[in-house]
Amino acid sequence: MAFIEIESETGIKVPDSPTIGYIEGDGIGPDISRVAIKVLNSAVEMAYHGNKSVEWKKVIAGDEAYEKTGKHLPQESLDMLKKCVISIKGPLTTPIGEGFRSLNVTLRQYFDLYANVRPVRYFPGVPSPVKNPELVNMVIFRENTEDLYAGIEWRYNSDEAKMIRWYLNEKFQVKIPDDAGIGIKPISKFKSTRLVRKAIQYAIQNHRKSVTLVHKGNIMKYTEGAFKEWGYEVAREEFKDYTVTEEEYSNSPGTSSWKIVIKDRITDNMFQQVLTRTQDYDIIATTNLNGDYLSDAIAAQVGGLGIAPGGNIGDVYAIFEAVHGTAPKYAGMDIANPTSLILSGAMMLRHIGWVEASDIIEEAVGECYREQKVTQDMARVMNVKALKCSEFGDEVVKRMRKSSS
Ligand code: NAP
Repeated sequence: MAFIEIESETGIKVPDSPTIGYIEGDGIGPDISRVAIKVLNSAVEMAYHGNKSVEWKKVIAGDEAYEKTGKHLPQESLDMLKKCVISIKGPLTTPIGEGFRSLNVTLRQYFDLYANVRPVRYFPGVPSPVKNPELVNMVIFRENTEDLYAGIEWRYNSDEAKMIRWYLNEKFQVKIPDDAGIGIKPISKFKSTRLVRKAIQYAIQNHRKSVTLVHKGNIMKYTEGAFKEWGYEVAREEFKDYTVTEEEYSNSPGTSSWKIVIKDRITDNMFQQVLTRTQDYDIIATTNLNGDYLSDAIAAQVGGLGIAPGGNIGDVYAIFEAVHGTAPKYAGMDIANPTSLILSGAMMLRHIGWVEASDIIEEAVGECYREQKVTQDMARVMNVKALKCSEFGDEVVKRMRKSSS
């Protein structure tokens, strides 16, 4: 097995046949993983004619791991994901009950995968609820490790909540109702800065036009507002030669047109802006809760979560994933839509520098949608015959052959 090597604090070295970890996932996970791996292998073969290939290493997690080991996320699985450095995963059931954390959140925190990255663009042919979905071409960088998702909260009647309410009243004369639960929203300079840094680096590498800092700083000044300030600061201090603020740009648009425009929008305004001025938005950097809402809302503009890819990316480790859940009612029926996982795989190949294979996949998936070769979730809206999950994968592979011959 040839593992991807960590070269520096932020760099990786990818061999020609890297071992890449994969978690099949629960529910529809095995169906869509099987198809995605087949598609990825075909694209790599087609792009590099045998000079590059992926050696897949299955890693167990979720229901399968629980059945085999009594744990949803055994230490051996975490160790193997660490060895692989880069992995891909299907959806995992969030175990219900006291004391359980979402496995996804656990993975993000264990590997410090601080950026949830969601490229959202339109594939012609996909049914969309908006008039001009083709205007959507955005990449959302959502902070993944803090904010209200840090899990610091207490039930309204717990001793901790009582103590905090008492403390706030005693020390700061802040009165909180006796029946209020308490949640804490930490937003730090270090974590905000590294997230915005990653978004700007991506914008530079991919020749994008703007980075919009989305925040609710008009109300939450020292958390959301601080995120915005730190975002501008990192742009100014570390990317001075590449960026310009919106204000500077409006003052002299001609001279700085080649630079990335850094702007900010208040969250509620941003929800309407992405609908009414869609073409003005490109890369988005935002806090955890805003990002959670906004990324699904933008994905809805281009046809929903079934086709949206995602990656959880840290300085070196990264786990790419389908953004939808386990859709248990379709488990094992070979009818789920594997597009999200396939495109997450394409995103993963791009991330390791295998751009040619990634392009081949995106092109072929786009062609399937243009030709209305789709699974039941889309077929029922388009009024066309539905393909099975595996048949959709075959159609993607078929179109790869077509486009490269
Ligand atoms: P879900 O699994 O995403 O499914 C909700 C509905 O979305 C399905 O009933 C189906 O709609 C549609 N759908 C989702 N993915 C699809 C696909 N690939 N192909 C076709 N249709 C698809 O959401 P959920 O029911 O709220 O969550 C189920 C479990 O997944 C929960 O345990 C949750 O915690 C977990 N989850 C995991 C992740 C993750 O691992 N990243 C993310 C979200 C949720 P129709 O019924 O209309 O056909």
